[in-house]
Amino acid sequence: MDYTALRERMVAEQLEGRGITDPRVLTAMRKVPRHEFVPEDLRHMAYRDGPLPIGHGQTISQPYIVALMTQYLMLTGEETVLEVGTGSGYQTAILCELSRQVFSVERNAALAEQAADRLTKLGYKNVEIHVGDGSQGLPDMAPFDAILVSAAAPAIPGPLRSQLGDGGRLVIPVGDRESQVLERVWRTGETWRIEHLAPVLFVPLYGRYGFQDPGRR
Ligand code: SAM
Repeated sequence: MDYTALRERMVAEQLEGRGITDPRVLTAMRKVPRHEFVPEDLRHMAYRDGPLPIGHGQTISQPYIVALMTQYLMLTGEETVLEVGTGSGYQTAILCELSRQVFSVERNAALAEQAADRLTKLGYKNVEIHVGDGSQGLPDMAPFDAILVSAAAPAIPGPLRSQLGDGGRLVIPVGDRESQVLERVWRTGETWRIEHLAPVLFVPLYGRYGFQDPGRR
């Protein structure tokens, strides 16, 4: 399969065609081999316009949503970024292309290990994957210039707001399990301004500041 051609078409039709304009985001989406982040038997579908299963009941997000959330972070290349919900590591790779250092937290240890292996094989060195409850952020690594959460929270987790640096941006889906709104939080000093951006549908963020963990009673 000519994955390069499929990727070019994905960028032209699904991203540029829908208003993704940040040239750095488009370049990263053209470069990162999405097919390396999906299970082998689904590789032929890697560049389709939708999410795909990655095992453990989780998904790799739709290319357009990855590009849109990344564009809202307005990265210049100098940032320290926190990602919550590593999943396959695909969004992580895009963030690595566009920032100085990425810290990514995944609650599922098996997914975290697979993602870390993939990112190492692809040569990414500016990333640390942590296993744990990302709804609590990573206080030891804070503050962050940008935070991206790729699972839906019932409300903006307090620790993520406070771990944003001055001028920092947090992009997160907020709502119930059936529907959410993508929100962007800007921190200026001790003020947090919230913008409501677009309707989205994500798997739940479980944890202390997310939905109740289904494994805990
Ligand atoms: N952006 C990812 C990608 O490109 O593959 C897809 C992320 S998937 C939609 C959401 C991920 O969030 C899942 O892997 C899930 O295990 C993880 N997750 C859910 N709650 C979490 C939490 N509290 N901390 C860290 N990860 C969490």
